[in-house]
Amino acid sequence: MISPNPVVLTVAGYDPSGGAGIIIDVRTIVEFGCRPAAAITSLTFQNSAGVFGATHEPASSLRAQIVPVTEEHEIAAVKIGMIPTAELIFEIAAMVHNKRLPSPIVDPVLRSSSGYQLIDEDAIEVLRTELFPLARLITPNIPEAERLTGMQISDEHTMREAARRLRELGALAVLIKGGHLEHRSAERQAIDLLDDEGEITVFRGEWIDAPPVRGTGCMLSSAIAASLANGADFVESVEAAKKYVTAEIRNSKFQN
Ligand code: PLP
Repeated sequence: MISPNPVVLTVAGYDPSGGAGIIIDVRTIVEFGCRPAAAITSLTFQNSAGVFGATHEPASSLRAQIVPVTEEHEIAAVKIGMIPTAELIFEIAAMVHNKRLPSPIVDPVLRSSSGYQLIDEDAIEVLRTELFPLARLITPNIPEAERLTGMQISDEHTMREAARRLRELGALAVLIKGGHLEHRSAERQAIDLLDDEGEITVFRGEWIDAPPVRGTGCMLSSAIAASLANGADFVESVEAAKKYVTAEIRNSKFQN
């Protein structure tokens, strides 16, 4: 039976420890009242201490996972997370291009918080040239935005410039997550900057003094996709997603 809830597809890596990737995406999509579907790009081996390796799926496997789902369900929104190889990026781009998948929310996952590279070096350029132009939104954090633009980001002004440069690569919108900026400035605020087709919105949130929480990028991009699938407008969706992630970070502070 076709579910009445909008279907949100995550295409991402699997972290068996549940700290990041598909488990977090699915949990977030359910929290937003949508029906999750998930296709695995990579099986990673990790826990909270670090990432110890990964085996990546070939493009044929990714396609075989996604096609039957799209034949049975209308996909309301897609979130793309870790895509470790150029081959997988080309496959996803082809599916968006052929309208099998809608224009995705792309979280450009480059490294784990522990520093493990989650994408092949040569695939980073493919991400920029093949997938960004098809994206409804890309959601880099500061280190990712720096790597993708080659510029240093130290404040709101440089965030604005980086967002503009990333949008020039073809994405309709860019959300730069300023969480990492806190360590570089005196401001005790979490600043995120959205550039939606040139229209800038700055989100200022409370800075929560908690140890780094894994999977916040996964949560944010999934929550935006789910909120859009529920019919919210763009800025509303980013706001709802930020609120959700802030609550998750606050809850994590009181765990253990
Ligand atoms: N996806 C997978 C499978 C990961 O292992 C990681 C980080 O380790 C990420 C995504 C990125 O996580 P975050 O949400 O912390 O950016």
